[in-house]
Amino acid sequence: MNERSSRAELRRTIDEIDRDLEALVARRDEIAAELIRAKPSAPYDPEREERIAARDRALWLPLLRRVRTAVGARLAPRPTKPGAFPSGEFVLVAGPCSIDEHLDETLDALVKVGVAWVRAGAWKPRTFPWSFQGDGIAALRRVRDRADQLRLKLVSEVVSEVDAPAACELVDVVQVGARNAQNFALLKRLAGLGKPVLLKRGPACTVEEWLGAAAYLDGRVPVTLCERGVRGFDPCFRNLLDLPGALLARRLGGLQTIVDPSHGTGVAGLVAPMVLAARAAGLDGAMVEVHSSPEESRSDGEHALRTSELAELALQLGMSERSSRSSIDRPVSAVPRGSADEARA
Ligand code: PEP
Ligand code: MN
Repeated sequence: MNERSSRAELRRTIDEIDRDLEALVARRDEIAAELIRAKPSAPYDPEREERIAARDRALWLPLLRRVRTAVGARLAPRPTKPGAFPSGEFVLVAGPCSIDEHLDETLDALVKVGVAWVRAGAWKPRTFPWSFQGDGIAALRRVRDRADQLRLKLVSEVVSEVDAPAACELVDVVQVGARNAQNFALLKRLAGLGKPVLLKRGPACTVEEWLGAAAYLDGRVPVTLCERGVRGFDPCFRNLLDLPGALLARRLGGLQTIVDPSHGTGVAGLVAPMVLAARAAGLDGAMVEVHSSPEESRSDGEHALRTSELAELALQLGMSERSSRSSIDRPVSAVPRGSADEARA
């Protein structure tokens, strides 16, 4: 055997081992999920934690090596577990940052362009206590009623364990915001409430920490990850939307993953191109902030899309021709994931 063919042979052997490893990891995930589902309480296992901590280096080094090497960078995009949204489609979630007096006009505009998933905040995590905090449960009831009338599905954030049970009765998907991404008490509470969770990435969370937070929920409720930008250094941007981070989290975690380029850039004019980029990259959807009069919005008006801009985006995603919705369970905002060429078209 010459040198070249023996190298080829070794590569083939490594490929076979990789395939075996992937099959073993998938099988392990299935068994772990079964074990977690069978547990009466949160999936906390002190003995296992100790074992993992003791061999931390051994556990994470191979993972990091796989990610950083060519093999890792080419980790096959595996099919994701069922998440909060329909699978195999690119979902668009849109709506105002917070529920305010313009809610009805904004929601009407969403329906017109074929959006089926609305977002709107009742509890707002704000940097300063004097900023609008949201009208709480009363506002959530209001948006639920309007969403039902318009046959829209509702995603909304809950910021405290105390409000979690009541909020979960009103939403279709409960959002954990960036500031609460590692609020483990809240995550444990939500793990027991049965609602699918949209888990934002913390502004300073590594992919590993983000997936660690998701593990509090995974196996107990459907989880979808949402990349919403990490803290950067350039004041031009509110945050830096980390598309590769989103892709890597999706591949490593096997979880449905969407992006939020509104908070992820803080620049209204960059929102639509980033949605198209996410679709071209093979991610599962996007969440964008829209308002019928952004200048009158009580929060985040500066990066909200105008309703005309949302209509333009819907057109680029090929949504508007689908606006004759036949059933609430088949959201018209779900468009097939496309190639980069389709996204440019
Ligand atoms: C939001 O989506 O309303 C929000 C507050 O976003 P984030 O938690 O990503 O800042
Ligand atoms: Mn906002």
